[in-house]
Amino acid sequence: MAPAPERRVAALTGAGISAESGIATFRGSGGLWENHPVEEVATPGGFARDPLLVWRFYDARRRQAASCSPNAGHRALARLEGALGGRFTLATQNVDGLHLLAGSRRVLELHGSLWRVRCTRCGYAGEERTVPLPTLSPRCACGALLRPDIVWFGEALPTEVFEAAAEAAESCDLFLVVGTSGVVEPAASLARLAARSGAKVWEVNPEATPLTPFCDRSVRSGAGAVLDELVDEILAR
Ligand code: NAD
Ligand code: ZN
Repeated sequence: MAPAPERRVAALTGAGISAESGIATFRGSGGLWENHPVEEVATPGGFARDPLLVWRFYDARRRQAASCSPNAGHRALARLEGALGGRFTLATQNVDGLHLLAGSRRVLELHGSLWRVRCTRCGYAGEERTVPLPTLSPRCACGALLRPDIVWFGEALPTEVFEAAAEAAESCDLFLVVGTSGVVEPAASLARLAARSGAKVWEVNPEATPLTPFCDRSVRSGAGAVLDELVDEILAR
């Protein structure tokens, strides 16, 4: 008998996996921040108009994220990576860094990270973990404004990161969609790509989403409650 092909698993996570850690999803909080639509504080145009407002928003998100810990859902995916090694790929839309804190080593951060900044002029990019930031708005050594290393509405995803996620979606035999509303593109397209490429797609979300019709299985539950069991099931296949 021919040996079974090496199984590959990929996962796409969204704000829902961090909800049980206490980090608000955008839509869940009404889509407003201090009466500003989230789009206003998360677009290049918004930053050009009022960088201080945007930095106050991100400083608040950094403070909130710094006070939160990974939950059982994040830890289950770290365990899956530990068991499957390079045959597992984790792509996240989250910017909170909780997957890395939970022990995941390779995380494709499709939308950037709250914990990195980059220069609007000289190309500098680096880690910045001081909470709260000592000065708003922070500046680069070159004198120009720093911006959060976050993909804002209307901006392209980092090409290499997205391509690595797309390759994993195309080559896996099981694709997990966890805690994402499936309305932010192109991230959501990864699940459809996996389905088209022949993978089984499992969704973990208390609610139905536009991705549900592409899923072979929908687990209507919070990620923290069920991911550990699902990981056991995946590893036993
Ligand atoms: P979303 O806010 O649009 O949707 C969250 C989804 O999670 C919903 O479908 C909801 O039903 C589901 N959900 C709620 N609680 C859950 C739980 N306990 N377990 C599993 N699922 C649960 O999130 P999105 O699809 O990631 O898109 C929002 C965008 O906003 C992304 O681009 C992301 O970058 C950004 N964002 C990130 C964070 C973060 O880093 N934690 C937080 C808010 C928004
Ligand atoms: Zn600079």
